[in-house]
Amino acid sequence: MDLGIAGRTAVVSAASKGLGRATAVRLAQEGANLAICARGREALEETAAEIRRQTGRDVVTVAGDVTDPNVPQGLVEAAVKRFGSADILVCNAGGAPSLTFLDISEEQWLAGLQLNLLSTIALCRAATPHMMERRWGRIVNITSLGAKQPLDNFMLSNTARAGVLGFAKTLSNEVGRYGITVNCICPGFTLTGRLKELAGSRAKEAGKRVEEIYAAWENNTALGRLAQPEEIGDCITFLCSERSSYVTGVVFQADGGYMKGIV
Ligand code: NAP
Repeated sequence: MDLGIAGRTAVVSAASKGLGRATAVRLAQEGANLAICARGREALEETAAEIRRQTGRDVVTVAGDVTDPNVPQGLVEAAVKRFGSADILVCNAGGAPSLTFLDISEEQWLAGLQLNLLSTIALCRAATPHMMERRWGRIVNITSLGAKQPLDNFMLSNTARAGVLGFAKTLSNEVGRYGITVNCICPGFTLTGRLKELAGSRAKEAGKRVEEIYAAWENNTALGRLAQPEEIGDCITFLCSERSSYVTGVVFQADGGYMKGIV
C-alpha cells in the first residue's frame, strides 16, 4: 500500500532512540523528509546519518530538550526553513519517576506535566498554523497504555498522559475542517532502552531476575510477548499517512492486548 506521504515533511520529537527513532526511520522509508530532536547531540546525529544512509531522505536535527520553550518552536521552524512545511508532527518524549501520590513533590508535578503534557501542546502550537495554511496535517501523540489503564506507581505519567488524550480530542475537533487529523497512540511494553532500564530497576527492587520481570509483562498480553519499536513505528506511520485520512480524535492502542477492557 502506498501511504501517500512521499515528499511530506515530518517533525518527530525525541527521536534519537526507541519509539521516536523507529517512527522517524519508517516515515523516511515512506519518502518523508524529517526534522528530529533529542537532548544528546551525538546519538541524534548518528540517527540522522543512519536515516540519510538507509533512505536517502533529508534530515535536519535540533539538539535540545522539549521542555525548553524554545525547542518545540525551533524544531518546527527548522523543518519549515529547510523543507517549506511541517505536514506531520509526532510528539514524543515522556515518562516520569515511578512514585505514589504523597511522595511526589510540587517540583516533580510541574516537571512531569511539562514533559508529558505541555511539551506536546507546545509542539502542536508551533506546527498547527503551518498545517492550517496548507490545509493538510497529521498529528500523532505518543502516550502510554497508562493513559487508559493507569499503571500502579505511575501517578504522574498516568495523570499527565490522560491530559494529552483530552487535549488531542479537543484539538481534533478544532482543526478537522482544515484537513488536519489528531490522534494518540498508547504503546504497550516495547523493547527500547527505557524499558530495559525499567526492567533492571524493577528486578533490583523486587529481588527478582530481569527475565521474571519481562515474563510478568509478557504474560499480561494476549500475544504473549513484548513489542519491537518498529511495530509501534508502523502504527504511528499509518496514522501519519494519507491512508488514515478519515481517522481523527482516536486513541489507538498498540499493546499486544495488555489492556483488559473492550475500548
Ligand atoms: P527511549 O528508548 O529512552 O528513547 C527516548 C528518546 O527521547 C531518546 O531519543 C531521548 O534522547 C529522547 N528524549 C528523552 N527526553 C527528552 C527531552 N526532554 N527532550 C528531547 N528529547 C528527549 O524511550 P522510549 O521507550 O522510546 O519511550 C518513548 C516514549 O514512549 C516515552 O514517552 C515513553 O514513556 C513512551 N512509552 C514507552 C513504552 C515502552 O515500553 N518503551 C511504553 C509506553 C509508552 P535524549 O536522552 O538524548 O534526549
